[in-house]
Amino acid sequence: MTKDVYLVIGGSGFVGRHIVEQLLRRGDNVSVFDIVQRYQDVPFYSGDISDQEQVSTALRRSGTTCIIHTASPPATLSDPALYWKVNVDGTKAIIAAAIQNNVRKLVFTSSAGVVFNGASLANIDERLTPPEQPMDAYNESKQKAEEAVIAANGKDGLLTVALRPSGIFGPGDRQVMAGLYKVYEDGKTHFQIGDNNNMFDWTYVENVAHAHLLAADKLDLAPPAPTLSTLEDLPVEAPPLTEAEQDIVTRPLPPLDLTVGRHRIPTSEARPVGPYVTPPSNSSELTSAFEAKRTSPEGRPVVRTRFDPLSEPNIFRAKYTNPESSPLQVAGQVFYITNGEPCYFWDLPRLVWGQLDTMFPGHRDTRKGYTVLPRWVGLGLAFASECWGWVIGREPALTRFKVTYSCVNRWHNIEKARRVLGYEPQVGLADGVGRMVDWWKTEYTTGTHKIAH
Ligand code: NAD
Repeated sequence: MTKDVYLVIGGSGFVGRHIVEQLLRRGDNVSVFDIVQRYQDVPFYSGDISDQEQVSTALRRSGTTCIIHTASPPATLSDPALYWKVNVDGTKAIIAAAIQNNVRKLVFTSSAGVVFNGASLANIDERLTPPEQPMDAYNESKQKAEEAVIAANGKDGLLTVALRPSGIFGPGDRQVMAGLYKVYEDGKTHFQIGDNNNMFDWTYVENVAHAHLLAADKLDLAPPAPTLSTLEDLPVEAPPLTEAEQDIVTRPLPPLDLTVGRHRIPTSEARPVGPYVTPPSNSSELTSAFEAKRTSPEGRPVVRTRFDPLSEPNIFRAKYTNPESSPLQVAGQVFYITNGEPCYFWDLPRLVWGQLDTMFPGHRDTRKGYTVLPRWVGLGLAFASECWGWVIGREPALTRFKVTYSCVNRWHNIEKARRVLGYEPQVGLADGVGRMVDWWKTEYTTGTHKIAH
């Protein structure tokens, strides 16, 4: 099998760079296309994605067979025209250039925000249709770009897939960490908007990069059963799942326990031995079986109901809606990508601030407790901040989007990514925060941003 030649578009950015590093680590041939060059270790093509000719030239010169498209302006600008130009027109230009140059694979970094319109989303899966009006111009442009990517699947041999990560953080991040540090420096960590009973999905950046490589690798795998379009007539009854399909939906998955540690239910054969007067003769076997690290959760049957996205009726419904494709293949699909460890919204910032405290002991008085501002107060303050920002011609410090974002549930079911892409988060939330704060400290103490404490 010939190896792909990769072009990471937006490869000078946060996520793009981690993808480049992972590709380099496994010995792949990779180039970068971006408007800025920040690294010198791979061939670089300078250009703007909204110019099809520039993308096309880079594809031709690099001999690309797989595009990973991560480019976008930052989410925090108030510039709908720029979002449209880069995200919508730029993505369409990439698709056209890919087809023009016979590129086979396109992996697109979408966003979980494409389905967010301000209302709470709890444990949602890919069946949820994106709203007509997403929360802001940035997510609207990502939604339109994603639509174009999925619609291009199968055109002239191009295979496409879109990944929807949520709340990416980690080394190299210039948005989340910088914002949290500013709050820390300004002494405002005791403010909380909303009641913090809302769950949010954060995703460590290397997990996101890992998902992109899996998607690229599996994009050209055939569906595990012939698609309905290959049959003479669309069946009215769902044909039974093939063995390959059964394997995908019933394979036992390991627990997501990177941060919380081992989940283990005691059984009669593996359990801690309680306070016996005379311990059972096999007590050491029982305890060591309980302590042993399990590599696979064999024997746990997967139980599904008809409400489950991977139940037979729902797989059939998805196939029926799009007879050209199967929800159990990668091409033409969207996937939520998260750490699979949703947590209360303010818990992650507090984890970051707590780690900053260990670096700067005494900087913060943590005895103050929290000043909890209800959501409506936050929205009022944000409105005032937006008006003031408009008057002085600057981006507002607080926006109604940010307030809404911090007060609602936004977490996602990643079972489809786990089963179809074979995605498992590699780094847990707590470990990821540690890595980000370590990186940040080195970066900011040796770089231009000196820390004065
Ligand atoms: P980033 O700003 O660090 O990287 C984006 C890169 O795209 C930059 O290097 C930038 O120079 C480049 N770029 C921008 N406009 C371009 C253009 N017209 N032509 C060529 N290159 C251009 O952003 P990131 O955080 O790495 O985000 C990567 C992708 O992930 C984006 O598509 C974003 O929408 C998506 N995403 C990010 C998050 C997050 O929390 N950071 C969450 C969900 C989805």
